[in-house]
Amino acid sequence: MLIEPNFAFIAGTPALCFVDTVADRGRLATDRLRKPTDLDIWLKAAGLDTGGARPASPDDLLQTRELREAIYRCGMAAVGGAPFDPADIACINRHAQQPPLRPRIEGATVVLQAKRPIEAALSTLAADAIAILTGSSRQRIRICPECAMMFVDTSRPGKRRWCSSATGCGNRAKVRRHRAKHLQPE
Ligand SMILES: [Zn+2]
Repeated sequence: MLIEPNFAFIAGTPALCFVDTVADRGRLATDRLRKPTDLDIWLKAAGLDTGGARPASPDDLLQTRELREAIYRCGMAAVGGAPFDPADIACINRHAQQPPLRPRIEGATVVLQAKRPIEAALSTLAADAIAILTGSSRQRIRICPECAMMFVDTSRPGKRRWCSSATGCGNRAKVRRHRAKHLQPE
């Protein structure tokens, strides 16, 4: 059992790191945002919190998951060259219409502020999703063939296949191919 949610920020963009709070989609599909406090922890880890905000509520978590799955489905549509579902677009647009997080310089650091911090964080994520899903990066959305993580390929040649070498997905597949080759009967 995980005590600390195992959050990773390697998808190349906040909206897809958000999508990846469901790990191993297509197989176990482990949701790392299980309870409202997980959302508080993730927002802080993602740098999308305002400091002393009220804790997330069960309804916030519901809204969050709804937005996350809408972004996921649109990402899958982009990968498959399919059109977006209008209901998913409506959901993303609705969140993006909320006032986003606003930065302010305090001393040498940036502090985010918002009247409604969680709605604002979701608005910021929705805006990022819109940028990813509609810009040139739409062609760069990838699904890791090993762990099903969604990410945007920011490499210059645009040939990144695996989520990240740090997680070992590319290496795991290489080892498997190597073993398969050597186990084949002559
Ligand atoms: Zn992977």
